[in-house]
Amino acid sequence: MEKTLILSCCGPCSAGVVEFFAKTKRPAAVMFYNPNIDTKEEHDLRASENKRLCDFFNIPYIYIPYEPQVWLEQTKDFFAEPERGKRCSLCFSLRLKKAAQYAKENGFDSFTSVLGVSRYKNLEQVNICAEEVSKSVGIPYDFTNWRKGGLELRRVQLIKELNLYSQKYCGCAFSKR
Ligand code: SF4
Repeated sequence: MEKTLILSCCGPCSAGVVEFFAKTKRPAAVMFYNPNIDTKEEHDLRASENKRLCDFFNIPYIYIPYEPQVWLEQTKDFFAEPERGKRCSLCFSLRLKKAAQYAKENGFDSFTSVLGVSRYKNLEQVNICAEEVSKSVGIPYDFTNWRKGGLELRRVQLIKELNLYSQKYCGCAFSKR
């Protein structure tokens, strides 16, 4: 069966998807790569909560160390952009590219992400970035809409059931405005 790498931003956004892969026994692993998060403390808290979720469902968890300077370099000309603007496209592409490269080099058949799961995100914008990355790296992207199929409801339920930490902003300092 196809093995998929799931790029995750946090436990709350990935909860329904992680449970879905565990219950359907589809081979998968979650990758936490979020250099966009504004502080190390916040980054580590989201990372540990994401790991707790994966451990609960017995899904492998891959942690990529915090490298905020890479994100700052990628987005430096677009700090003033509003959320959903060019800064976000660059941010999505950076993280998706890391996931695509990791997936290709480590025996995965495809990659996907939960970057567009939140209703505050523009799923089409994420998909456009993912399509470009998929073509440039040379590995298929799974475009399943992870908001559908009851997963949004399960996501909300799991946040409560597992008492997952839910942040109040996307990640970068500019998303706090
Ligand atoms: S608002 Fe979120 S997606 Fe946009 S640049 Fe900031 S961290 Fe990235």
